[in-house]
Amino acid sequence: MEKQFFDVAIIGGGPAGLNAALVLGRARKKVAVIDEGRPRNAVTQETHGFLTRDGVRPSEFRRIAREEIGAYPSVSFLADTVMSISGADGHFQVATAQGNILTSRKLLFAVGMKDRPLDIPGLTAVYGRSAFVCPYCDGWELRDQPLVIINKGAELMHFAPLISGWTDRFVICTNGPDELTDDQRDELRRHRVPKFESPIRHIDSEEGIVRQVVLEDGTTVPCRGIFFKPELVMGSDLPRTLGCTMTEMGTIEVDLLGKTSVPGIYSAGDAVSRMHQAVAAAAMGATTAAAVNNELNAEAWHNESATTPD
Ligand SMILES: Cc1cc2nc3c(=O)[nH]c(=O)nc-3n(C[C@H](O)[C@H](O)[C@H](O)COP(=O)(O)OP(=O)(O)OC[C@H]3O[C@@H](n4cnc5c(N)ncnc54)[C@H](O)[C@@H]3O)c2cc1C
Repeated sequence: MEKQFFDVAIIGGGPAGLNAALVLGRARKKVAVIDEGRPRNAVTQETHGFLTRDGVRPSEFRRIAREEIGAYPSVSFLADTVMSISGADGHFQVATAQGNILTSRKLLFAVGMKDRPLDIPGLTAVYGRSAFVCPYCDGWELRDQPLVIINKGAELMHFAPLISGWTDRFVICTNGPDELTDDQRDELRRHRVPKFESPIRHIDSEEGIVRQVVLEDGTTVPCRGIFFKPELVMGSDLPRTLGCTMTEMGTIEVDLLGKTSVPGIYSAGDAVSRMHQAVAAAAMGATTAAAVNNELNAEAWHNESATTPD
C-alpha cells in the first residue's frame, strides 16, 4: 500500500475525533480519521443532551458529522483499526489492520472507553434499552419510574441523591455484601432507600425492557429501569504503549489543551475524562484540535524564519 502523509492522524471517529477533524479541516490541515466503528454507545437508540441533536441515534449523529466534515477536502476517513504506531513527534508511522501505513506529524487519540463484559445474567439484553449508566443521558426517559441501582460502593452516597432528582421510587441491589460504612448505611436508611444485598441471579426482561431483578435468595424486585456502574477500560492500549502517562482512573493524563506527556501526542473525549457525555467529548475534541493546529503552525512558522537569511 502506498504511504500517505498527514499533518494529524486522529484515531477514533466518535464525537471527540469528529469534532477535532472538523476544526482541523477548517484550519486547512491534512487529517486522517481512522475509526473501527465500535463506540461504547452503539448499544443505545438515542443520544440525549446534545443541543440541536437531542434524541439522535448514535449512528445518525456520526453520519451527519461526516457529511458536514465532507465540506473540507483535506480530511480523509479510513474505516480501519490502528494496530501499531512507531516514530516520534513530527514523524509518526501508523499501521492499520488492513495493511495501510500512514505517516503523520501529530497524533490525536479519541479512542473512547470500552465496557468490560457484563457479568450479571440478563444485563446485556437490557443494556442501552432500559439499563443505563448515566442519568443525565437517560434519566428523563425513566422519570418517576421504579428503578434499581446496581452498585455496592461509596459512590452510592453520590448516586442515590443524584437519582432522587428523577424518581423517588428506587431501590439498591448491591449484588453481594455492600462496601459501605455504618454511617453510610444509616444515611440510606434515614432516606428510606431499600437495599438488597443478595447476589443477583438474573434480570428478567422482554424485548430489552426490564421487568424485574431476581435475587439468589428468591426476592424479586419489579422495576422499569436500571442504572449500574460499568467496568471500563481504555478504548485502545496504544497510548499507554507509546509511553503516555495514565491516571489512577485508567484515563490518559492530559493538560487543559489535551496534550499528553509524550511530545506530539494529544488526546480528547472519554479517553481523558470522567464526564462521559457526547457534547463534552466533542468540546474537548474541538479544544484539542485548536491546540494541535497551534503547535503545527508555530513549528512551520519557526522553521520558515530559521531558513530566512538576514
Ligand atoms: C449506554 C450509553 C448511553 C449513552 N448515552 C449518552 C447520551 O444520551 N448522551 C450523551 O451525551 N452521551 C451518552 N453516552 C456517552 C457517549 O457515548 C460518550 O461520552 C461519547 O461517545 C464519547 O465520545 P468519544 O469520541 O470520546 O468516544 P467514542 O464515541 O466511544 O468513539 C471512540 C471511537 O474510537 C474507535 N477506536 C478505538 N480504538 C481504535 C483503534 N485502535 N483504531 C481505530 N479506531 C479505534 C472506537 O471504535 C470508537 O468508534 C452514553 C454512553 C453509553 C455507554
